[in-house]
Amino acid sequence: MSNDRLKVGVIGVGHLGRHHARNYAAIDSADLVGVYDPNPTQGRSVAVANHTQYFEALDDLLARVQAVSVVTPTQSHHAVVHQALEANCHVLVEKPITTTVAEADDLIHMAAQKGRVLQVGHIERFNGAIMAAYDHIKQPLFIECHRLAPFNPRGTDVSVVLDLTIHDLDIVLGFVGGNVASVQAVGVPVISQSIDIVNVRLEFVNGCVANITTSRVSAKVERKIRFFQRSCYVSVDLLNKTVDIFQKKADLMAWIEKDASGYTRIKDASSPEEIAKKIIDHKHINAEDQEPLRAELVSFIDCVQTGKPPTVSGVEGRRALHLAYQIIEEISKKHALTDVL
Ligand code: NAD
Repeated sequence: MSNDRLKVGVIGVGHLGRHHARNYAAIDSADLVGVYDPNPTQGRSVAVANHTQYFEALDDLLARVQAVSVVTPTQSHHAVVHQALEANCHVLVEKPITTTVAEADDLIHMAAQKGRVLQVGHIERFNGAIMAAYDHIKQPLFIECHRLAPFNPRGTDVSVVLDLTIHDLDIVLGFVGGNVASVQAVGVPVISQSIDIVNVRLEFVNGCVANITTSRVSAKVERKIRFFQRSCYVSVDLLNKTVDIFQKKADLMAWIEKDASGYTRIKDASSPEEIAKKIIDHKHINAEDQEPLRAELVSFIDCVQTGKPPTVSGVEGRRALHLAYQIIEEISKKHALTDVL
């Protein structure tokens, strides 16, 4: 085992944490030293599956590693990350960063003081389609997000805003920046006691508008983000990992003429398909189908080893959480739904 492999551990190996362990075990730049979970049956079985050690005490694991993934229930993120930073470990904490903004501030402050990386698991940033679209999204003026899923009781202990919308908030904030001028939102509890479907309209100081719809009571599954910018429209399908870029052709004006009645038309084209071909360049990209979690963990290790800032820092995780709470407040103000948030 070479010395430049980062010694890592996973704290919390439930539904998602076991995939952190599986990926670390397969990443060349990582040495999976062990896992910790208060449920020994769960912890041992994940350790065995990944040929690593199960630690009965968290402090024992922390003393043996340089970095950890924290994949515990959100309510425990603050306490667990705090303990890991105290032990001088670099931390990748699952999203949402914490339960409250004050807790997030505390961890950001502590990571800075300790000089440790604090990354937040907003995994959609590592979705191959988002990565492939990245260079084509320059200055979006309108963004439309649709994240639809069928009802699943898992995750319904928190509002859909903290569970799912927060993915799109992070992506939108990542492209537009953090200067939100106004927030409008509507949310409805359809099946669960909490908000199941939400629509958010964000206006940014630079004029960009984002319209975000999230549902966990949909008949179909869809995860799409459409970016509209001057002369270009980029449609990103996060589920099927494809990107479609529609760019206005540079020689568009050469194809425009007036007919005898003075109406504008496109030369030698009459059907909508022919017109589109003359004036628009369409590029379809099948994005690389690598597991986003693997890309996220590789990037985390790279940041620890090189000192590069993480793709989603604690500050960015906090920014998405703060906006999520602004949205929740907006919904509860409007519909007196405080009791079901
Ligand atoms: P889970 O309940 O399936 O697993 C949590 C595990 O943590 C359990 O095995 C539990 O025994 C263990 N645990 C509980 N308290 C602990 C503590 N104090 N210290 C150590 N381990 C503890 O939950 P999950 O679905 O895996 O979710 C875990 C986290 O991942 C949550 O914050 C959730 O929001 C997040 N998550 C993120 C995504 C994503 O898309 N990025 C998807 C699912 C879950």
